[in-house]
Amino acid sequence: MSVKHKMIRAMFGLMGLPTCEEVEQFAYDFLEGVLDSSTMKAVERHLKACKNCQRFIAAYRKTASLGKTFQKPTLDPEFKENLFEFLAQKAGGKV
Ligand SMILES: [Zn+2]
Repeated sequence: MSVKHKMIRAMFGLMGLPTCEEVEQFAYDFLEGVLDSSTMKAVERHLKACKNCQRFIAAYRKTASLGKTFQKPTLDPEFKENLFEFLAQKAGGKV
């Protein structure tokens, strides 16, 4: 950990703000908007003062939104129909 980082950490500590590590841990909840309002404000204040975390949050937001589209793929209706048909045939054949 660099001296500068240590100083920033001490400064945030004095101001009652979360450290960079904490902001990184809160990033997901922060972006989801599920943090309690006082933590939310503390993170926002930290972000105003800390370029590193601004970049981190921006990068995180990008990754998170990408992750969401991968996690929840919209099923092609035709594929869905074929799948149901396939399952129906499979079930019908066995019974
Ligand atoms: Zn920071």
